[in-house]
Amino acid sequence: MALKGPTEEEIRTVLMPLMLSGAKMLDKHCPRCGSPLFEKDGRVFCPICEHRARQRKAKMKGIAERLMEKLTELANSLPEDLTELEKHLSVMEKIIGLLERYKKLEGGE
Ligand SMILES: [Zn+2]
Repeated sequence: MALKGPTEEEIRTVLMPLMLSGAKMLDKHCPRCGSPLFEKDGRVFCPICEHRARQRKAKMKGIAERLMEKLTELANSLPEDLTELEKHLSVMEKIIGLLERYKKLEGGE
């Protein structure tokens, strides 16, 4: 995996506030992203990886919420026609499958 160090935005929004908050920047680097590691309250961590994980989770939560909305919408408007109903249910099934995959991804973090 290629090392992707912090972007300018991440330096500005993640690293700078952290330094100002009194966290200590170590001269070790994160093996995953190449960002300098920080130490605060005796805990050594990579603020960039933590920040990215949080963002990924937030993004996935947004997607999952939209899928849930769609699922509810579909469940509330089941057609009488059997052919249409079949299509409807197959879409619902796919959405449920996606939601389950997202849940697994979320749990894996
Ligand atoms: Zn990192």
